[in-house]
Amino acid sequence: MTSRKSETRSAGEEDFSSRLMEELREKLLACMQCGTCTGSCGSSFAMDLTPRQLWRLVQLGEKREIFKSRTFYLCSACYFCTLRCPRGLPLTEAMSALKRIAAAEGIKRYKQSANFYKAFMDTVRRYGRLREMEFMNRYFFSMKNPVLPMGYASLGLKLMKKGKVSPEIPKFLGEGRFDKLFRKVDELEKRP
Ligand code: SF4
Ligand code: SF4
Repeated sequence: MTSRKSETRSAGEEDFSSRLMEELREKLLACMQCGTCTGSCGSSFAMDLTPRQLWRLVQLGEKREIFKSRTFYLCSACYFCTLRCPRGLPLTEAMSALKRIAAAEGIKRYKQSANFYKAFMDTVRRYGRLREMEFMNRYFFSMKNPVLPMGYASLGLKLMKKGKVSPEIPKFLGEGRFDKLFRKVDELEKRP
């Protein structure tokens, strides 16, 4: 059984993830298991299930097996599989949908990855671009682990020395530049 904070999930979130899962299954029914997606994927060497295997599990509705895997979190959204799939299936979009379902279901084993992505997107939402200092601060704060920043200290210093990271003060409050846009997308995605 996948670990999840189901007691804090609203009926709306459950409906959203069930609907997304069913839409995904329908979109991938035409997969003929040729393996072109796996052969094209530059990240497949690190995945526990190949993309082809993942799509088969989606077709079969094997939610438990799908969310035991980290494959969809390792997808770098490069679109090679989508471009090469002979059936024209929206595979990169499908990987993203699995990330959204895992986030909506609050599956604990993806907490680190989910918090990383959320911190990234929250920074983009605020400025319309990435500000590395704020992004990492948001991520550390969300993980509530005081020793976590230590592991990144030497990399951070190296990047600062090379001028790749500016020491800007993070802004956590106030309206972000892209707030309205993000709210609209959220609203559209939750529409039945
Ligand atoms: S390339 Fe397309 S048809 Fe072939 S296995 Fe992957 S998803 Fe299925
Ligand atoms: S979009 Fe994701 S799954 Fe597809 S080839 Fe790129 S990394 Fe692999």
